[in-house]
Amino acid sequence: MADTVLFLAHVDDGQVGKPALEALGAAVDLATGLGAPLVAGLVGPGAAGAAQAIGGCGAARWLAVDDEAFGEGRYATDAAAADALVRAAGATLVVAAGTSRWMRVLPGVAHRLGGCADTHVPAIEAATGAVSVTRWYYRQRIEAVQARPERPWVIVTDPGGRAPWSGPSAAVSAEAVAVTAGPVRTRVTGVELPRAGADTIRPDADLLFVAGAGWTKKQADGQAHPAEAESLILTFLARSQASLGSSKSLVDLSGEGQTVLGVMTHLNQVGQTGSTPRHPKGLATCCHGEEPHVVGWRFINERRAVNLDPNCGWARGKADVLYVADAFAVMAKVNELLAT
Ligand SMILES: Cc1cc2nc3c(=O)[nH]c(=O)nc-3n(C[C@H](O)[C@H](O)[C@H](O)COP(=O)(O)OP(=O)(O)OC[C@H]3O[C@@H](n4cnc5c(N)ncnc54)[C@H](O)[C@@H]3O)c2cc1C
Repeated sequence: MADTVLFLAHVDDGQVGKPALEALGAAVDLATGLGAPLVAGLVGPGAAGAAQAIGGCGAARWLAVDDEAFGEGRYATDAAAADALVRAAGATLVVAAGTSRWMRVLPGVAHRLGGCADTHVPAIEAATGAVSVTRWYYRQRIEAVQARPERPWVIVTDPGGRAPWSGPSAAVSAEAVAVTAGPVRTRVTGVELPRAGADTIRPDADLLFVAGAGWTKKQADGQAHPAEAESLILTFLARSQASLGSSKSLVDLSGEGQTVLGVMTHLNQVGQTGSTPRHPKGLATCCHGEEPHVVGWRFINERRAVNLDPNCGWARGKADVLYVADAFAVMAKVNELLAT
């Protein structure tokens, strides 16, 4: 069966978001690699307008569920819209971004359609006419290349894995796709962000700044200095606009009520049981650099660490540069330099 590639996106505030633009780049490359037609399917109010902004992507057909009822993320409506768009497109391959909305519904949609889904896909290949995707296993220690015969194959890409599509806007005329969502029981009354942490996690920052449990430990004077630690870290974050990561030990301390950094939550934890963020650079401070933590640095390109211990994990090939120094002194100096 000849393939048809569907790029699927939900529209937020009348726009196609950055993760979706990355998925669009992957969909365009996939369709080009296969010589297959590309269809763009957009969901949400303002879909027709949002289509214009990506009008130059080369899609042969445009489909839209441009309806207020599909504006909010909700399983029933999101799944119904995606299902209808895949059917209307006659798609065999569906590419969508791994946003929380799509991650929640697309595996279920693939099941409804008798197909299959793969999530957390960093890259799609179609070099030899056969489609394959890469996936990380065992916390980014093993990279697999895999293919599936089932169609439709819904491929959900990991945000941050490639450059967003960029190109000219163009007027497009989108076909309206009618969707029956069935009974809708969920009403969206608002969005609540986590108490703290959310505004210190900055996926687009150039630098990941990791704070480890050493910030809470007794220092050379026999005392712990949590207030100074907090002030140094917050000043650095404000001046550098770095994203704040943590080791598990520090997050756990906060969970046990010994608040060191009020802004820190488990969302900041990097590592095997935490996140695997993507940033060009990383700086670890007062963090030992043990494997379960450093495995979360898989996508950090240039790594530096500040630790008193010349024998810490970072010294054993895990960092490009290790400053054997007191992080309190180093960060105070760095903050001073940043102020000027
Ligand atoms: C199944 C499993 C999953 C895990 N998952 C994770 C995970 O997802 N993420 C994670 O982080 N960990 C994880 N861990 C825990 C991990 O093994 C380590 O225990 C943890 O990362 C240690 O945190 P830390 O380096 O902040 O603290 P510590 O090991 O206590 O190290 C503190 C460091 O601070 C340094 N230090 C102290 N004072 C200063 C100073 N003034 N200046 C400079 N350096 C100073 C010390 O030399 C020391 O190296 C996991 C463990 C297991 C078993």
